[in-house]
Amino acid sequence: MDISDEVRAKYTAVIGLEVHVQLLTSSKIFSSDETYFGASPNTQVSVVSLAHPGTLPKLNRRALEFAIKMGLACQSEISRFNLFDRKNYFYPDLPKGYQLTQDRTPICRGGTVPVTLKSGITRNILLNRIHLEEDAGKSIHVEGEDDTLVDFNRAGMPLIEIVTEPVIRSSEEAYVFLSEIRKLVRYLGICDGNMEEGSMRCDANVSIMLKQSDTFGKKVEIKNMNSLRNVQRAIEVEIDRQISLVEAGEEIVSETRTFDADVGVTSAMRTKEELNDYRYFPDPDLSPVVVTDAWLDEIKSGMPELPQALLQKFVSEYELPEYDARLLTESKEIAHYFLSVAEHVNNYKAASNWIMGPVKSYLNEHALTIDQFPVKAETLAELIRLIDEGKLSFSVASQQVFSTLITSKENSALSVAQQLNVIQDSDESSLLPLIEEVIANFPEKVIEYKKGKKGLKAMFIGEVMKRSKGKADPKLTDQLISKKLQEA
Ligand code: ADP
Ligand code: MG
Repeated sequence: MDISDEVRAKYTAVIGLEVHVQLLTSSKIFSSDETYFGASPNTQVSVVSLAHPGTLPKLNRRALEFAIKMGLACQSEISRFNLFDRKNYFYPDLPKGYQLTQDRTPICRGGTVPVTLKSGITRNILLNRIHLEEDAGKSIHVEGEDDTLVDFNRAGMPLIEIVTEPVIRSSEEAYVFLSEIRKLVRYLGICDGNMEEGSMRCDANVSIMLKQSDTFGKKVEIKNMNSLRNVQRAIEVEIDRQISLVEAGEEIVSETRTFDADVGVTSAMRTKEELNDYRYFPDPDLSPVVVTDAWLDEIKSGMPELPQALLQKFVSEYELPEYDARLLTESKEIAHYFLSVAEHVNNYKAASNWIMGPVKSYLNEHALTIDQFPVKAETLAELIRLIDEGKLSFSVASQQVFSTLITSKENSALSVAQQLNVIQDSDESSLLPLIEEVIANFPEKVIEYKKGKKGLKAMFIGEVMKRSKGKADPKLTDQLISKKLQEA
Protein backbone atom coordinates (compact mmCIF):
# COMPACT_ATOMS: atom_id res chain seq x y z
CA MET A 1 0.00 0.00 0.00
CA ASP A 2 2.28 2.73 -1.20
CA ILE A 3 0.55 6.06 -1.13
CA SER A 4 2.27 9.22 -2.27
CA ASP A 5 2.29 12.25 0.00
CA GLU A 6 0.40 14.08 -2.73
CA VAL A 7 -2.50 11.63 -2.54
CA ARG A 8 -2.38 11.66 1.24
CA ALA A 9 -2.59 15.43 1.21
CA LYS A 10 -6.02 15.26 -0.44
CA TYR A 11 -7.53 13.79 2.71
CA THR A 12 -8.18 14.75 6.29
CA ALA A 13 -8.13 12.02 8.92
CA VAL A 14 -10.80 12.16 11.62
CA ILE A 15 -10.03 10.29 14.82
CA GLY A 16 -11.91 9.80 18.08
CA LEU A 17 -10.49 7.78 20.95
CA GLU A 18 -12.17 5.73 23.64
CA VAL A 19 -9.77 5.08 26.51
CA HIS A 20 -10.50 2.60 29.26
CA VAL A 21 -8.65 3.29 32.46
CA GLN A 22 -8.63 0.69 35.21
CA LEU A 23 -8.92 2.41 38.57
CA LEU A 24 -6.49 1.59 41.37
CA THR A 25 -9.08 0.92 44.03
CA SER A 26 -8.48 -1.94 46.44
CA SER A 27 -11.87 -3.47 45.81
CA LYS A 28 -14.10 -3.83 42.76
CA ILE A 29 -16.62 -1.22 41.67
CA PHE A 30 -19.77 -2.94 42.94
CA SER A 31 -18.44 -5.51 45.39
CA SER A 32 -15.73 -6.01 48.01
CA ASP A 33 -13.74 -8.46 45.85
CA GLU A 34 -10.03 -7.71 45.74
CA THR A 35 -8.28 -6.28 42.70
CA TYR A 36 -4.64 -7.46 42.72
CA PHE A 37 -3.05 -7.64 39.30
CA GLY A 38 -1.77 -11.06 38.33
CA ALA A 39 -3.67 -13.03 41.01
CA SER A 40 -4.39 -16.67 40.12
CA PRO A 41 -7.47 -17.01 37.92
CA ASN A 42 -10.82 -16.92 39.69
CA THR A 43 -9.43 -16.15 43.14
CA GLN A 44 -10.92 -12.66 43.37
CA VAL A 45 -14.50 -13.63 42.73
CA SER A 46 -17.41 -13.63 45.11
CA VAL A 47 -21.02 -14.39 44.38
CA VAL A 48 -21.43 -10.79 43.20
CA SER A 49 -18.70 -11.04 40.51
CA LEU A 50 -20.20 -14.36 39.47
CA ALA A 51 -23.70 -12.85 39.29
CA HIS A 52 -25.40 -15.37 41.46
CA PRO A 53 -29.14 -14.75 41.55
CA GLY A 54 -30.22 -12.42 44.33
CA THR A 55 -26.84 -10.73 44.80
CA LEU A 56 -26.83 -6.95 44.87
CA PRO A 57 -24.28 -4.39 43.67
CA LYS A 58 -23.04 -1.63 45.96
CA LEU A 59 -21.09 1.32 44.56
CA ASN A 60 -17.45 1.80 45.58
CA ARG A 61 -17.25 5.42 46.72
CA ARG A 62 -13.53 5.55 45.92
CA ALA A 63 -14.15 4.66 42.26
CA LEU A 64 -16.58 7.56 41.89
CA GLU A 65 -14.08 9.93 43.54
CA PHE A 66 -11.31 8.79 41.18
CA ALA A 67 -13.56 9.44 38.18
CA ILE A 68 -14.37 12.91 39.51
CA LYS A 69 -10.66 13.65 39.98
CA MET A 70 -10.02 12.80 36.36
CA GLY A 71 -12.92 15.03 35.33
CA LEU A 72 -11.59 17.92 37.40
CA ALA A 73 -8.14 17.46 35.85
CA CYS A 74 -9.76 17.73 32.39
CA GLN A 75 -12.03 20.69 33.23
CA SER A 76 -15.11 18.54 32.70
CA GLU A 77 -18.47 19.37 34.19
CA ILE A 78 -19.19 16.99 37.07
CA SER A 79 -22.66 15.45 37.08
CA ARG A 80 -24.34 15.87 40.44
CA PHE A 81 -27.01 13.27 39.86
CA ASN A 82 -25.71 9.90 38.81
CA LEU A 83 -27.47 6.80 37.64
CA PHE A 84 -26.02 3.50 36.56
CA ASP A 85 -27.46 1.79 33.54
CA ARG A 86 -27.60 -1.77 32.40
CA LYS A 87 -26.09 -2.33 28.97
CA ASN A 88 -27.54 -5.64 27.89
CA TYR A 89 -25.61 -8.05 25.75
CA PHE A 90 -24.46 -11.64 25.82
CA TYR A 91 -20.86 -12.53 26.34
CA PRO A 92 -19.43 -15.72 27.89
CA ASP A 93 -17.34 -13.69 30.37
CA LEU A 94 -20.26 -11.48 31.37
CA PRO A 95 -22.31 -13.71 33.66
CA LYS A 96 -24.98 -11.10 34.46
CA GLY A 97 -25.88 -10.72 30.81
CA TYR A 98 -25.44 -6.98 31.15
CA GLN A 99 -22.70 -4.55 32.04
CA LEU A 100 -23.23 -1.79 34.57
CA THR A 101 -22.23 1.50 32.99
CA GLN A 102 -23.40 5.10 32.76
CA ASP A 103 -25.37 5.92 29.65
CA ARG A 104 -27.35 9.12 30.09
CA THR A 105 -25.64 10.51 33.17
CA PRO A 106 -21.89 10.14 32.72
CA ILE A 107 -20.09 11.37 35.83
CA CYS A 108 -18.10 13.89 33.73
CA ARG A 109 -19.34 15.79 30.71
CA GLY A 110 -17.16 17.60 28.20
CA GLY A 111 -13.69 18.72 29.13
CA THR A 112 -10.47 19.30 27.30
CA VAL A 113 -6.91 18.00 27.25
CA PRO A 114 -4.24 20.24 25.71
CA VAL A 115 -1.67 18.41 23.60
CA THR A 116 1.58 19.98 22.45
CA LEU A 117 2.93 18.55 19.20
CA LYS A 118 6.53 18.31 18.00
CA SER A 119 5.95 21.40 15.88
CA GLY A 120 5.28 23.35 19.08
CA ILE A 121 1.60 23.81 18.23
CA THR A 122 -0.81 23.13 21.09
CA ARG A 123 -4.28 21.76 20.35
CA ASN A 124 -7.11 21.27 22.78
CA ILE A 125 -8.63 17.82 22.44
CA LEU A 126 -12.28 18.02 23.44
CA LEU A 127 -13.78 15.26 25.51
CA ASN A 128 -17.31 14.08 25.03
CA ARG A 129 -17.56 12.40 28.42
CA ILE A 130 -15.95 10.30 31.11
CA HIS A 131 -18.15 7.60 32.57
CA LEU A 132 -17.79 4.83 35.13
CA GLU A 133 -18.37 1.21 34.33
CA GLU A 134 -17.42 -2.30 35.30
CA ASP A 135 -15.06 -4.51 33.34
CA ALA A 136 -16.00 -7.96 32.09
CA GLY A 137 -14.13 -11.19 32.81
CA LYS A 138 -11.49 -12.51 30.48
CA SER A 139 -11.80 -15.39 28.05
CA ILE A 140 -8.56 -17.26 27.55
CA HIS A 141 -8.00 -19.25 24.41
CA VAL A 142 -5.08 -21.60 24.90
CA GLU A 143 -3.34 -22.50 21.67
CA GLY A 144 -4.08 -26.01 20.52
CA GLU A 145 -6.94 -26.45 23.02
CA ASP A 146 -10.58 -26.81 22.01
CA ASP A 147 -11.93 -25.29 25.19
CA THR A 148 -12.04 -21.66 26.17
CA LEU A 149 -11.11 -20.80 29.73
CA VAL A 150 -12.73 -17.99 31.66
CA ASP A 151 -11.13 -15.89 34.39
CA PHE A 152 -13.62 -13.79 36.34
CA ASN A 153 -11.03 -11.87 38.36
CA ARG A 154 -11.47 -8.93 36.01
CA ALA A 155 -15.28 -9.05 36.16
CA GLY A 156 -16.42 -5.99 38.08
CA MET A 157 -13.06 -4.19 38.02
CA PRO A 158 -13.65 -0.43 38.12
CA LEU A 159 -13.09 1.45 34.87
CA ILE A 160 -13.53 4.92 33.60
CA GLU A 161 -14.03 5.34 29.89
CA ILE A 162 -12.77 8.59 28.45
CA VAL A 163 -14.42 9.39 25.12
CA THR A 164 -13.08 12.16 22.91
CA GLU A 165 -15.02 14.08 20.32
CA PRO A 166 -13.91 13.27 16.75
CA VAL A 167 -11.45 16.17 16.83
CA ILE A 168 -8.13 14.38 16.55
CA ARG A 169 -6.55 14.89 13.14
CA SER A 170 -3.34 12.86 13.09
CA SER A 171 -1.71 9.80 14.60
CA GLU A 172 0.74 12.11 16.37
CA GLU A 173 -2.11 13.97 18.08
CA ALA A 174 -3.57 10.64 19.19
CA TYR A 175 -0.19 9.58 20.56
CA VAL A 176 0.37 12.80 22.50
CA PHE A 177 -3.21 12.79 23.78
CA LEU A 178 -2.78 9.28 25.16
CA SER A 179 0.52 10.13 26.78
CA GLU A 180 -1.13 13.15 28.42
CA ILE A 181 -3.94 10.93 29.70
CA ARG A 182 -1.40 8.44 31.03
CA LYS A 183 0.51 11.25 32.71
CA LEU A 184 -2.68 12.61 34.31
CA VAL A 185 -3.88 9.28 35.70
CA ARG A 186 -0.42 8.68 37.14
CA TYR A 187 -0.26 12.14 38.72
CA LEU A 188 -3.72 11.60 40.18
CA GLY A 189 -2.71 8.15 41.39
CA ILE A 190 -5.89 6.62 39.99
CA CYS A 191 -4.27 4.15 37.55
CA ASP A 192 -0.77 2.89 36.84
CA GLY A 193 -1.23 3.74 33.16
CA ASN A 194 0.35 0.49 32.06
CA MET A 195 -0.90 -0.30 28.55
CA GLU A 196 1.18 -3.46 28.25
CA GLU A 197 -0.62 -4.95 31.24
CA GLY A 198 -3.97 -3.67 30.03
CA SER A 199 -4.67 -1.25 32.86
CA MET A 200 -5.06 1.41 30.17
CA ARG A 201 -6.67 0.36 26.88
CA CYS A 202 -7.51 2.37 23.83
CA ASP A 203 -9.91 1.91 20.93
CA ALA A 204 -9.31 4.22 18.00
CA ASN A 205 -12.11 5.32 15.67
CA VAL A 206 -10.74 6.38 12.32
CA SER A 207 -12.31 7.83 9.20
CA ILE A 208 -11.11 9.94 6.32
CA MET A 209 -12.70 12.64 4.20
CA LEU A 210 -11.57 14.88 1.37
CA LYS A 211 -9.90 18.05 2.64
CA GLN A 212 -12.65 20.36 1.38
CA SER A 213 -15.43 18.14 2.73
CA ASP A 214 -17.32 18.81 5.92
CA THR A 215 -19.04 15.45 6.15
CA PHE A 216 -17.25 12.76 8.08
CA GLY A 217 -16.59 9.44 6.39
CA LYS A 218 -17.65 6.08 7.80
CA LYS A 219 -15.61 5.20 10.83
CA VAL A 220 -13.67 2.06 11.53
CA GLU A 221 -12.92 1.08 15.11
CA ILE A 222 -9.50 -0.43 15.84
CA LYS A 223 -8.85 -2.54 18.91
CA ASN A 224 -6.05 -4.47 20.57
CA MET A 225 -3.19 -2.05 20.65
CA ASN A 226 -1.04 -2.60 23.70
CA SER A 227 1.26 0.40 23.62
CA LEU A 228 1.11 4.09 22.79
CA ARG A 229 3.42 3.51 19.84
CA ASN A 230 1.15 0.79 18.49
CA VAL A 231 -1.90 3.05 18.69
CA GLN A 232 -0.01 5.57 16.58
CA ARG A 233 1.13 2.91 14.10
CA ALA A 234 -2.32 1.33 13.83
CA ILE A 235 -3.89 4.71 13.05
CA GLU A 236 -1.27 5.44 10.38
CA VAL A 237 -1.80 2.05 8.76
CA GLU A 238 -5.59 2.42 8.91
CA ILE A 239 -5.59 5.90 7.37
CA ASP A 240 -3.51 4.61 4.47
CA ARG A 241 -5.74 1.58 4.04
CA GLN A 242 -8.82 3.78 3.83
CA ILE A 243 -7.16 6.20 1.41
CA SER A 244 -6.20 3.34 -0.94
CA LEU A 245 -9.74 2.00 -0.85
CA VAL A 246 -11.30 5.36 -1.63
CA GLU A 247 -8.70 6.04 -4.32
CA ALA A 248 -9.63 2.70 -5.90
CA GLY A 249 -13.28 3.76 -5.92
CA GLU A 250 -14.29 1.39 -3.16
CA GLU A 251 -16.49 1.97 -0.12
CA ILE A 252 -15.33 2.01 3.49
CA VAL A 253 -17.24 -0.49 5.61
CA SER A 254 -18.07 0.46 9.20
CA GLU A 255 -16.45 -2.31 11.13
CA THR A 256 -14.25 -3.25 14.02
CA ARG A 257 -10.69 -4.15 13.08
CA THR A 258 -7.82 -5.53 15.07
CA PHE A 259 -4.20 -4.41 14.82
CA ASP A 260 -1.45 -6.96 14.36
CA ALA A 261 1.65 -5.22 15.68
CA ASP A 262 4.08 -7.82 14.30
CA VAL A 263 2.88 -7.49 10.72
CA GLY A 264 1.72 -3.86 11.03
CA VAL A 265 -1.72 -4.34 9.49
CA THR A 266 -5.30 -4.06 10.66
CA SER A 267 -7.78 -6.80 9.80
CA ALA A 268 -11.54 -7.11 10.12
CA MET A 269 -12.96 -8.61 13.34
CA ARG A 270 -16.65 -7.92 12.94
CA THR A 271 -18.90 -5.55 11.09
CA LYS A 272 -20.96 -3.17 13.17
CA GLU A 273 -24.56 -4.29 13.32
CA GLU A 274 -26.93 -1.80 11.81
CA LEU A 275 -28.20 -0.68 15.16
CA ASN A 276 -26.66 -1.87 18.40
CA ASP A 277 -29.64 -2.19 20.70
CA TYR A 278 -28.29 -2.57 24.20
CA ARG A 279 -31.64 -1.70 25.76
CA TYR A 280 -30.03 0.62 28.27
CA PHE A 281 -32.12 1.27 31.35
CA PRO A 282 -31.28 2.48 34.86
CA ASP A 283 -30.27 -0.37 37.13
CA PRO A 284 -33.03 -0.77 39.71
CA ASP A 285 -30.63 -2.31 42.25
CA LEU A 286 -28.47 0.80 42.57
CA SER A 287 -29.87 4.00 43.98
CA PRO A 288 -28.95 7.30 42.33
CA VAL A 289 -25.77 8.91 43.69
CA VAL A 290 -25.82 12.62 44.39
CA VAL A 291 -22.51 14.47 44.47
CA THR A 292 -23.02 17.25 47.02
CA ASP A 293 -21.10 20.55 47.09
CA ALA A 294 -19.36 19.49 50.27
CA TRP A 295 -18.23 16.19 48.77
CA LEU A 296 -17.02 17.86 45.60
CA ASP A 297 -15.06 20.43 47.63
CA GLU A 298 -13.47 17.66 49.63
CA ILE A 299 -12.36 15.91 46.42
CA LYS A 300 -11.06 19.20 45.00
CA SER A 301 -8.99 19.86 48.08
CA GLY A 302 -7.40 16.43 47.75
CA MET A 303 -6.20 17.08 44.18
CA PRO A 304 -2.42 16.97 43.72
CA GLU A 305 -0.57 19.61 41.72
CA LEU A 306 -1.07 18.66 38.07
CA PRO A 307 1.63 18.49 35.38
CA GLN A 308 0.39 21.59 33.57
CA ALA A 309 0.55 23.69 36.74
CA LEU A 310 3.98 22.32 37.63
CA LEU A 311 5.23 23.08 34.13
CA GLN A 312 4.11 26.70 34.51
CA LYS A 313 5.78 26.88 37.90
CA PHE A 314 9.06 25.46 36.58
CA VAL A 315 9.10 28.08 33.82
CA SER A 316 8.02 31.10 35.84
CA GLU A 317 9.38 30.47 39.34
CA TYR A 318 12.43 28.40 38.51
CA GLU A 319 13.11 30.10 35.18
CA LEU A 320 13.71 26.85 33.36
CA PRO A 321 13.37 26.64 29.58
CA GLU A 322 10.02 25.17 28.57
CA TYR A 323 11.85 22.18 27.12
CA ASP A 324 13.32 21.31 30.52
CA ALA A 325 10.04 21.95 32.30
CA ARG A 326 8.23 19.59 29.97
CA LEU A 327 10.73 16.78 30.45
CA LEU A 328 10.87 17.19 34.22
CA THR A 329 7.09 17.08 34.56
CA GLU A 330 6.76 13.90 32.46
CA SER A 331 6.52 12.05 35.74
CA LYS A 332 5.33 13.28 39.10
CA GLU A 333 8.21 11.56 40.89
CA ILE A 334 10.86 13.23 38.73
CA ALA A 335 9.14 16.61 39.13
CA HIS A 336 9.13 16.21 42.90
CA TYR A 337 12.75 15.11 42.92
CA PHE A 338 13.62 18.32 41.05
CA LEU A 339 11.65 20.36 43.60
CA SER A 340 13.56 18.72 46.44
CA VAL A 341 16.92 19.43 44.80
CA ALA A 342 15.80 22.99 44.06
CA GLU A 343 15.08 23.56 47.75
CA HIS A 344 18.81 23.34 48.43
CA VAL A 345 20.39 25.12 45.44
CA ASN A 346 20.10 28.46 43.70
CA ASN A 347 21.25 27.12 40.37
CA TYR A 348 17.97 25.58 39.15
CA LYS A 349 19.20 25.11 35.62
CA ALA A 350 22.09 23.00 36.91
CA ALA A 351 19.62 20.91 38.92
CA SER A 352 17.57 20.39 35.78
CA ASN A 353 20.65 19.47 33.71
CA TRP A 354 21.79 16.95 36.29
CA ILE A 355 18.40 15.28 36.49
CA MET A 356 17.77 15.21 32.74
CA GLY A 357 21.35 14.10 32.07
CA PRO A 358 23.31 11.86 34.43
CA VAL A 359 20.39 10.95 36.71
CA LYS A 360 18.00 9.96 33.92
CA SER A 361 20.63 8.02 32.00
CA TYR A 362 21.47 6.06 35.14
CA LEU A 363 17.79 5.30 35.70
CA ASN A 364 17.27 4.25 32.08
CA GLU A 365 20.38 2.11 32.03
CA HIS A 366 19.33 0.24 35.14
CA ALA A 367 15.58 0.29 34.47
CA LEU A 368 14.93 2.05 37.77
CA THR A 369 12.45 4.70 38.83
CA ILE A 370 13.54 7.83 40.66
CA ASP A 371 12.17 6.40 43.94
CA GLN A 372 14.83 3.70 43.66
CA PHE A 373 17.62 6.15 42.87
CA PRO A 374 20.31 5.85 45.55
CA VAL A 375 21.38 9.51 45.61
CA LYS A 376 19.14 11.67 47.75
CA ALA A 377 17.97 15.03 46.44
CA GLU A 378 19.90 16.80 49.23
CA THR A 379 23.11 15.04 48.25
CA LEU A 380 22.75 15.92 44.56
CA ALA A 381 22.09 19.50 45.65
CA GLU A 382 25.31 19.46 47.68
CA LEU A 383 27.24 18.19 44.66
CA ILE A 384 25.84 21.03 42.54
CA ARG A 385 26.84 23.57 45.18
CA LEU A 386 30.39 22.19 45.31
CA ILE A 387 30.70 22.76 41.56
CA ASP A 388 29.22 26.25 41.78
CA GLU A 389 31.64 27.12 44.58
CA GLY A 390 34.57 26.02 42.42
CA LYS A 391 35.44 23.13 44.72
CA LEU A 392 34.78 20.51 42.04
CA SER A 393 35.02 20.59 38.29
CA PHE A 394 31.93 19.39 36.48
CA SER A 395 33.80 16.56 34.82
CA VAL A 396 35.26 15.23 38.08
CA ALA A 397 31.85 15.62 39.74
CA SER A 398 30.00 13.72 37.04
CA GLN A 399 32.64 11.09 36.29
CA GLN A 400 33.92 10.31 39.77
CA VAL A 401 31.94 11.77 42.65
CA PHE A 402 28.49 11.07 41.20
CA SER A 403 29.22 7.42 40.44
CA THR A 404 30.81 6.90 43.86
CA LEU A 405 27.75 8.42 45.51
CA ILE A 406 25.60 5.94 43.62
CA THR A 407 27.63 2.90 44.62
CA SER A 408 28.68 3.86 48.15
CA LYS A 409 26.35 4.21 51.05
CA GLU A 410 27.84 7.65 51.64
CA ASN A 411 25.40 10.52 51.53
CA SER A 412 27.72 13.49 51.71
CA ALA A 413 29.11 14.70 48.39
CA LEU A 414 31.85 16.62 50.19
CA SER A 415 33.18 13.63 52.08
CA VAL A 416 33.14 11.47 48.94
CA ALA A 417 35.07 14.19 47.10
CA GLN A 418 37.54 14.37 50.00
CA GLN A 419 37.99 10.60 50.05
CA LEU A 420 38.63 10.64 46.30
CA ASN A 421 40.98 13.56 46.89
CA VAL A 422 39.50 15.61 44.07
CA ILE A 423 38.57 18.87 45.81
CA GLN A 424 39.75 21.70 43.60
CA ASP A 425 42.22 24.18 44.90
CA SER A 426 40.59 27.55 44.57
CA ASP A 427 42.78 29.15 47.16
CA GLU A 428 44.90 31.94 45.64
CA SER A 429 47.65 31.63 48.20
CA SER A 430 48.30 27.96 47.40
CA LEU A 431 47.99 28.43 43.62
CA LEU A 432 50.26 31.49 43.29
CA PRO A 433 53.51 29.69 44.20
CA LEU A 434 52.79 27.03 41.55
CA ILE A 435 52.11 29.72 38.95
CA GLU A 436 55.27 31.60 39.79
CA GLU A 437 57.25 28.37 39.57
CA VAL A 438 55.87 27.62 36.09
CA ILE A 439 56.59 31.15 34.86
CA ALA A 440 60.14 30.92 36.20
CA ASN A 441 60.66 27.53 34.52
CA PHE A 442 59.66 28.69 31.02
CA PRO A 443 61.30 32.10 30.42
CA GLU A 444 61.41 31.68 26.60
CA LYS A 445 57.76 30.80 26.45
CA VAL A 446 56.98 33.89 28.49
CA ILE A 447 58.81 36.02 25.92
CA GLU A 448 56.98 34.34 23.03
CA TYR A 449 53.70 34.92 24.84
CA LYS A 450 54.52 38.57 25.32
CA LYS A 451 55.33 38.85 21.60
CA GLY A 452 51.79 37.82 20.85
CA LYS A 453 51.68 34.01 20.92
CA LYS A 454 48.62 34.09 23.20
CA GLY A 455 47.82 30.45 22.58
CA LEU A 456 50.67 29.56 24.93
CA LYS A 457 48.49 30.38 27.89
CA ALA A 458 46.93 26.92 27.64
CA MET A 459 50.39 25.41 28.06
CA PHE A 460 50.97 27.42 31.24
CA ILE A 461 47.58 26.37 32.63
CA GLY A 462 48.36 22.77 31.77
CA GLU A 463 51.65 22.96 33.67
CA VAL A 464 49.96 24.38 36.75
CA MET A 465 47.31 21.65 36.55
CA LYS A 466 50.02 18.99 36.37
CA ARG A 467 51.82 20.37 39.40
CA SER A 468 48.54 20.63 41.34
CA LYS A 469 47.73 17.00 40.38
CA GLY A 470 44.64 18.20 38.56
CA LYS A 471 43.20 19.99 41.54
CA ALA A 472 43.75 23.61 40.57
CA ASP A 473 40.50 25.44 39.91
CA PRO A 474 40.83 26.04 36.13
CA LYS A 475 38.93 29.33 36.14
CA LEU A 476 40.99 30.84 38.92
CA THR A 477 44.22 29.46 37.44
CA ASP A 478 43.40 31.10 34.13
CA GLN A 479 42.78 34.46 35.80
CA LEU A 480 45.92 34.34 37.90
CA ILE A 481 48.13 33.23 35.00
CA SER A 482 46.85 36.02 32.76
CA LYS A 483 47.63 38.50 35.49
CA LYS A 484 51.09 37.12 36.26
CA LEU A 485 52.07 36.92 32.57
CA GLN A 486 51.01 40.52 32.19
CA GLU A 487 53.30 41.50 35.04
CA ALA A 488 56.22 39.27 33.97
P1 ADP B 1 -20.97 4.86 18.32
O1 ADP B 1 -22.38 5.23 18.28
O2 ADP B 1 -20.52 4.01 17.19
O3 ADP B 1 -20.53 4.36 19.64
P2 ADP B 1 -20.10 7.51 18.99
O4 ADP B 1 -20.70 8.66 18.33
O5 ADP B 1 -20.55 7.17 20.38
O6 ADP B 1 -20.20 6.24 18.05
O7 ADP B 1 -18.54 7.75 19.02
C1 ADP B 1 -17.64 6.80 19.46
C2 ADP B 1 -16.25 7.34 19.19
O8 ADP B 1 -16.05 7.47 17.80
C3 ADP B 1 -16.00 8.72 19.76
O9 ADP B 1 -14.69 8.76 20.27
C4 ADP B 1 -16.14 9.65 18.57
O10 ADP B 1 -15.31 10.78 18.71
C5 ADP B 1 -15.64 8.77 17.45
N1 ADP B 1 -16.23 9.10 16.15
C6 ADP B 1 -17.52 9.36 15.88
N2 ADP B 1 -17.69 9.56 14.56
C7 ADP B 1 -16.47 9.42 13.98
C8 ADP B 1 -15.98 9.50 12.64
N3 ADP B 1 -16.79 9.73 11.61
N4 ADP B 1 -14.68 9.29 12.43
C9 ADP B 1 -13.85 9.01 13.45
N5 ADP B 1 -14.24 8.94 14.72
C10 ADP B 1 -15.54 9.13 14.99
MG1 MG C 1 -20.98 5.27 21.61
